[in-house]
This record gives sequence, C-alpha cells and structure tokens, in this order.
Amino acid sequence: MRIESSQMRNFINGEFVEPINGRYLDNLEPATGKPYSQAADSDAHDVDLAVTAAEKAFVDWSKKPATERSRFLLRIADLIERDLEKFSRAESIDTGKPISLARSLDIPRAVANFRFFATAILHTESEAHITDNVAFNYTLRQPRGIAGLISPWNLPLYLLSWKIAPAIATGNTAIAKPSELTPMTAYMLCEIAREAGLPNGVLNVVHGTGPKVGAAITAHPKITTISFTGGTVTGRKVAEACAPLFKKVSLELGGKNPNIIFADADFDAAITGSVRSSFANQGQICLCGSRVFVERSAYKNFVERFIERTAQLCLGDPLDEKTEQGAIVNKPQLDKIKFYVDLAQKEGGKIALGGSAPQLPNDRCREGYFFQPTVITDLPVSCRTNREEIFGPVVTITPFDNEEEVIGYANDTDYGLASSVWTQNLNRAHRVAEKIHTGTVWVNCWLLRDLRVPFGGMKQSGVGREGGEEALRFFTEPKNVCIAR
Ligand code: NAD
Repeated sequence: MRIESSQMRNFINGEFVEPINGRYLDNLEPATGKPYSQAADSDAHDVDLAVTAAEKAFVDWSKKPATERSRFLLRIADLIERDLEKFSRAESIDTGKPISLARSLDIPRAVANFRFFATAILHTESEAHITDNVAFNYTLRQPRGIAGLISPWNLPLYLLSWKIAPAIATGNTAIAKPSELTPMTAYMLCEIAREAGLPNGVLNVVHGTGPKVGAAITAHPKITTISFTGGTVTGRKVAEACAPLFKKVSLELGGKNPNIIFADADFDAAITGSVRSSFANQGQICLCGSRVFVERSAYKNFVERFIERTAQLCLGDPLDEKTEQGAIVNKPQLDKIKFYVDLAQKEGGKIALGGSAPQLPNDRCREGYFFQPTVITDLPVSCRTNREEIFGPVVTITPFDNEEEVIGYANDTDYGLASSVWTQNLNRAHRVAEKIHTGTVWVNCWLLRDLRVPFGGMKQSGVGREGGEEALRFFTEPKNVCIAR
C-alpha cells in the first residue's frame, strides 16, 4: 500500500487533493515531541468541495442494493485487516499508545465495525402497523443524505470507523473529520477505500482543526446529520451550531466514570480489571474508570495491591512491544494532567503512587510527553479532581461504607458515561446497576463491547446512542406510509 504519509492531503471525490489554501499543520509524534508528518489545514472551502462530491455520490450510492454496499464495506474490512501491522504502527506513532494496544484493540475493532455494519444492513426489519380495517402503515427507513462525522484523537480509527461504517452502510455519503492531532489512520483508510473501489464521493475526509473544518461541517446546511465524539465543551458548541438548522445530532462526550469494588468481589479479577480500566491507553479512553470506590473493609488491602500492580506497568517507547504505558497525546494534555495532580494535593489528596514525569524510556523519547500512572487517595468525593474529567493516567481511590453511599458518590458528577461494579452478589449487582446514572454499567468486567448494544452517555456525557440498531436508525429517516384499506 502506498502511504504518502509525509503530507496528508484531503480525500475528496476519490482523489487526494491539496487544501485550497495550500496550508498544512505539523503532526507531532507524542513519544518524541517532534513533527513527523503534516496534515492539510483545511477550511470551509474544502468542506464545500467535499459537500459537492458527497451530494453527487449520494444519488447512486443511496440507490445501491444493500448487498452491494455491504460488499464494499466487507472489502474495506479485509484490507484493513491485511494491513494490520501498518495500521497498528501508524496509530502507535500518531497517538503515543503502545503498539500492542493498537494491534489488539484499535485496529481489530475498526475491522469489526466495518464487518458489523456490512452484515447488519442485510438483516434489518421493517415495521408495519395495521389500523383495524382502516389502513396499513409501513415505515420506510431512508438514508438522510450527507453525514458529518467528527472524531477525537484517543481512538482515532476505532471511533471514526464506528461512524463511517453505519453512515455509508445505510446509504448516506460521508464527510469525516479526524482529530487534527491524530490524522494518520484516517488518511490510510482513504487509501483503503480507493483500493476497495468505493465509489468516488461516498467517503470524503477533510483534515484540519475543529474551529475551521469541524465548525464548517456543523454549520453547512447540506450536511443534515452530525455524529460527534469529543469533549463536553466542544459538544456544546456543536449542539449550538446544529440547533438552528435542526440537524439530527448524536453527541458522545466526556466521562468521569466510577469503578465500584464491594468487599465480596473476586479480588484478583477486581484488581486486574481496575488497573486496566484506570490506565489503558494512559487513561485516555472516555470509558476509563477514573474514580475508584472500595468498600471500607477491603479498602486497605485493595489500595496496597492496586498500587503494587500499577507500579509494575511497563512505561516505555510506544513502539516497544513490551510497553504497557505509552505517551500522552500532546503537551497541552500533559499540562492538564499536571494541573489536576497539583490541584488534587491542594484539595487534600495524597499521592500514593506516581504524580510526576517518569524517567524517559530511551533517547528517542527524551522530549516526549510521558506521565507516571498516578494514584491519589484521601480526597473528598465532591472536590474538583473527583468531578472533572482529567483524561490521563490519574485515578482517585475512596472508601465507602454502604451501597446507598457509593451510589450517591458514583452519581455525584455531571457526567454519566460508564461505570463498573465488582461484586459476587447478583442481587446487589442488579440493584446498583439500576441506580447508577451511566449509559453503560459493566459488572465484573470493563470495556466488553457487543456491537449490537446501545452505546452512549447520560447527563453531560452525551445525547443519543450509537451501536447496532441505534446507529442504523440514527443514520436513516423513518417515513410512515399510510395506505387506506
Ligand atoms: P475535542 O472536543 O477537543 O475534539 C473532538 C473533535 O472535535 C476534533 O476532531 C476537533 O477538531 C473537533 N472540534 C473542535 N472544535 C470544534 C468545533 N467548534 N466544531 C466542530 N468540531 C470541533 O476532544 P478531544 O480532545 O479530541 O478528545 C477527548 C475528549 O473526547 C474527551 O473528553 C473524551 O472523554 C471524549 N471522548 C468521548 C467518547 C465517547 O464515546 N463518549 C469517546 C472518545 C473520547
């Protein structure tokens, strides 16, 4: 596969094209802090070009039988899988995540997303309602037109493909904007789309910043559907831009997820699961459990063993196979993490592990953005560190005395994305799951994802749901046809 990775151009109407203004943004490698490529610094004019291409492509694409659309998506999945190593390496360089994580999670999940929606569209059902002997009604679900798909930097291909696959599978055409911090795998996906023979204009990718390209997508009157994943502050701006145009919007936003350990939990599983949910991808997964609550009788033992296990995590060059903790995505994110670790101490917290920059893994990484996995105890539940999203390798651990108290703690945040509960008591698991205000509750597990289930957040973690049937519905317009009998 040809990868012109030094200068990533936009992908519009099946061609790689220069941004109209000719400008490029430097793309840094987080592990080294140095630019290693450039991506188009596009603006509204490039979005206009993409809209023209997407509008034209929609005419044929939306009429193609589902079986044909399905074949294109399956081909894309096969080609990404063929290039698993290239994609994993690119994702690791671009994001700073350990290559082993990119290989085991991100890229296989992108493959699964394309396969899932390629086959889901072959098995959809249509509803019919019979109004006594007066009328027949049936629901036509039609593609909505051009979908604007905006994604963040933490799981770039995984999250973008989770939007692209259902959007185009259901007959829409798409304009995707990857994060300007991690554009590489989206760029590579365009090469794959071309190789798969995806008709021109069905998938367009416009690179650039949020205020220029993202805002142009949300403001464009011909882009009627917006699927956005990112921070809550940005999500608010997206909602504000879309509201006057009555766009259909899905917002997947930030989280401050509770991870609750009852004393009757399988302790080994709870420790292993909690270390993973706290520090996977350096804590930069929206679903990471950043607030750990432990029943008081088990608290001391849990903290000791959690710290022991966390201290063993291998921090290193993301490209090293042994690395379990890679780099933070950029300097502003690293500064944000440091800010919250300082704040936690001012709020009365005790740094039980980490809390600073580590010894740098090797000479190549001497200017990279690294931070030690950090454990903070003794913080009040309602302080800022425990309520605001940090999005880094920082967790707080707090004891609790009973079920009611911990449910109150878990819900004491504006976010409501996901939670984990560790207990052997089945009745308690059901009771607690029902009372926690999060879109997903994992019991005795974390990040187990069945692609058919609804996915999304409550409260300020989002609006709408993605996943299986929800995604197929989101990207289609239900039309009732009523026929008098
Ligand atoms: P971000 O909000 O800064 O950026 C997300 C995307 O929005 C980027 O592509 C960015 O360029 C674009 N953007 C920025 N300003 C825009 C504007 N005015 N209009 C339109 N688009 C704009 O988020 P981030 O820092 O890239 O990602 C981290 C955040 O994403 C965290 O808060 C994390 O919790 C969240 N996230 C949520 C989920 C989820 O499924 N709920 C998944 C992953 C990440």
